[in-house]
Amino acid sequence: MNDNHTNIHYRSGIVSIVGKTNVGKSTFLNTILEEKVSIVSDRVQTTRNIIRAIYTSEKGQLVFMDTPGIHKANGDLGKNMNKMARSSIEGVDIILLVLDASEPPEQIDEGWFRRLSKSNIPCFFVLNKIDKKINYEINYKKLWDEINCEKSGILEPYWINISALRNIGIKQIIEKLISDVPIGPKLFPDDVLTDYPRKLNIADVLREKLFNRLHQELPHAIAVWIDNIQDFDEKCLVNAIIYVERHSQKGIVIGEKGQVIKPSKKEAENELYEMYGILYSLKITIKVEKNWRKNFWMLKKLGYN
Ligand code: GDP
Ligand code: MG
Repeated sequence: MNDNHTNIHYRSGIVSIVGKTNVGKSTFLNTILEEKVSIVSDRVQTTRNIIRAIYTSEKGQLVFMDTPGIHKANGDLGKNMNKMARSSIEGVDIILLVLDASEPPEQIDEGWFRRLSKSNIPCFFVLNKIDKKINYEINYKKLWDEINCEKSGILEPYWINISALRNIGIKQIIEKLISDVPIGPKLFPDDVLTDYPRKLNIADVLREKLFNRLHQELPHAIAVWIDNIQDFDEKCLVNAIIYVERHSQKGIVIGEKGQVIKPSKKEAENELYEMYGILYSLKITIKVEKNWRKNFWMLKKLGYN
């Protein structure tokens, strides 16, 4: 479909997925794409908001942004919460708050309710894990009503029950999202979409390994970009570029005698092997690019820095 610019019915938008860790955000995305594009992990993620998945159909395109989990033990919850919420909410078309229906609401869920009750962006409240025996839907709705009442209740969220793991309610949610995002052309053209999820995933895995070793030394200064992937029968060769902002940061990423980059690369390759069942060989180049953020056309386009 290359005529979407002339298709007056085509819809497209950015959907931000928020919610605490372990509610099933990654599982949800994986189910949508039926491919492992987002790391399903119990670990707290260190990455910034990132495009996790792009869903394209005849009717519309949805660009999903995932956010790092907010960890309970993380210092000042309120402060973190606000920072996180702000960055994941700004400039998106729909916010999808994922809740674990099999567990009663916690302080973090309440925090999201409070934050979202003040925003005027359309929200979906997604009660996940309904395949489990217990469902605390009533508790969530009651809590929401209490909070929303205090705030004069401008926002009318769309509630939906799903099981990301068992693929229940996923089709409905997609249809509803597509009908709710604005009329507009594809944000990502078809040729860019080829292999995009796999590239994002590989970048994400490598980024995660680097961050684990850097102990958050350079959390915002690094970007990982996958330039190309060559597929062979036995293995895949991947050209990865790590962008840093200053020369001194290049040394930090490499580490003394390569003690950061080498094991990170190895770990990433191992994880990719587990994910895809084929060997991935990463060829990593580190580039110093003062304004790399501006060079990522997609981030620019989406207004993320
Ligand atoms: P995230 O931290 O929000 O991204 O959560 P994950 O997607 O990593 O999921 C956390 C855990 O919940 C994993 O063990 C998933 O298998 C599990 N999970 C996710 N969705 C469902 C669901 O619909 N039903 C059940 N029973 N488990 C789920
Ligand atoms: Mg996740």
